Amino acid sequence: MDTRTTYIDLLKELGKLNSAVALLTWDEETHMPKKGLDLRAETVGKLSRMAFELSISDELGRCIEDLEGRDDLTERESASLRVVGKEYRRSKAVPPALFEEFTIAQSKSQAAWGEAKRTSDFALFQPHLEKMVDYTRRFADLYGYDDSPYDALLGRYEPGMTTARLREIIRPLRERLVPFIDRLLGEKTPSDASVLDGRFPIDPQRTLARTVLEQIGYDFDAGALDDTMHPFTTQIAPGDVRVTNRYLESNPLSGLFGALHEGGHALYGQGADAELYTLGLSDGASYGFHESQSRLIENQVGRSRPFWTFFRPIFTDALPSLAGISVDDLYRAANRVSRSLIRVEADEVTYNLHIMLRFELETKLLDGSVRVADLPGLWNDAMDSYVGIRPTNDAEGVMQDVHWSTGLIGYFPSYMLGNLYAAQISCTLREAIPSLDEQIADGDFGPLLEWLRDKIHRFGAIYEPGELIVRITGKDLSSEPFLDYVTAKYSEIYRL
Ligand code: ZN
Repeated sequence: MDTRTTYIDLLKELGKLNSAVALLTWDEETHMPKKGLDLRAETVGKLSRMAFELSISDELGRCIEDLEGRDDLTERESASLRVVGKEYRRSKAVPPALFEEFTIAQSKSQAAWGEAKRTSDFALFQPHLEKMVDYTRRFADLYGYDDSPYDALLGRYEPGMTTARLREIIRPLRERLVPFIDRLLGEKTPSDASVLDGRFPIDPQRTLARTVLEQIGYDFDAGALDDTMHPFTTQIAPGDVRVTNRYLESNPLSGLFGALHEGGHALYGQGADAELYTLGLSDGASYGFHESQSRLIENQVGRSRPFWTFFRPIFTDALPSLAGISVDDLYRAANRVSRSLIRVEADEVTYNLHIMLRFELETKLLDGSVRVADLPGLWNDAMDSYVGIRPTNDAEGVMQDVHWSTGLIGYFPSYMLGNLYAAQISCTLREAIPSLDEQIADGDFGPLLEWLRDKIHRFGAIYEPGELIVRITGKDLSSEPFLDYVTAKYSEIYRL
């Protein structure tokens, strides 16, 4: 058989296995009765192993090597080889015995983190985290890098990005954001969220989430919305991109913005065609780019005044206790800035500072200039100097996120890059559609989605993020558009 056909057939097989794993995992998080867990874990384990073995099979390796030398490939096929080949070589770089040892240590570490976080006792977690850092450093060496071991980890989530380049992008953020937050929160009374005090039943909130997803163009014939503990989006197959969400009785904005965020991810997934899926190109240009699509819908759209002009009547119809609330009240409540400890609850202005401190600590852990034992103190000092608040215990400090406990180092910058890409893309979008605000205020999201589809979604991972951002905006990624966006928006809200 022709190598190209074999390659595509192998990817199709891999796609089916991954699809089954995604569906079973989605079910586990949404509908599965808890007594089903044991067998489910075994089934997912079995299928994941089959997928992994196929993804590192010699047959696939031969196809990649063969095809890489050919000059008659389509643009999509070349991109597929770039993405699949990179992942293949990464997986092959780690000896199976080392990887197995790591996965065992990983589950112990995650369990220890859960217990240590519950009791706010870093000492319980420290030896496990030391092991995770050690494994990560060994993996980085096996993957290979030019400058810094962190590059080897970062590149997996953000192809083409380097530690040095990231430092350059970040510098102006720190220089401008820290004093800006001081000015915002200095003497001014923070904008008032008490207009949203109350208890709000979950059923209407769920309906609101569905409504807002329909409005932005999420296709329910190619997806579904279900409840979960931690919201996520999963691409099960072409034509099946599902969203999960969570609602709080005490805060109706939480579920709404959760739906908009996941909706942004889901639109990206629904914009990929079946061929991109088969070629392993349907997950988007990078984790950071995926995050840009969720942030753009959540923040640039959902946290804008035109959005609330349109959405206020729908919102208050569903939640009648808020009947008297004004567009301005809602807009301000949706855009409160505060010095807060927890990343996932942080506002648009402070969020990137939470990521910055993680990035700085991660790079130092990797190059050995910081010891795990010193992390809690360094974390608290950094929170103090960036965000202006000091954790009183390690559960709300260094142990708040699950990532490090599983050895996930190099991933955090994706969240920040998402915000930066979103702001830069948004500038170009507004030039392309000058009446965007009027359209949003009328509830017309069609032209917005069409533009995102045309400039971003339909390309999947064909281009690396560094190239894609230039194709969309004409410029390399920079933090300036984000800084201009938050400075203008929040100066107005806080009447600076
Ligand atoms: Zn996200």
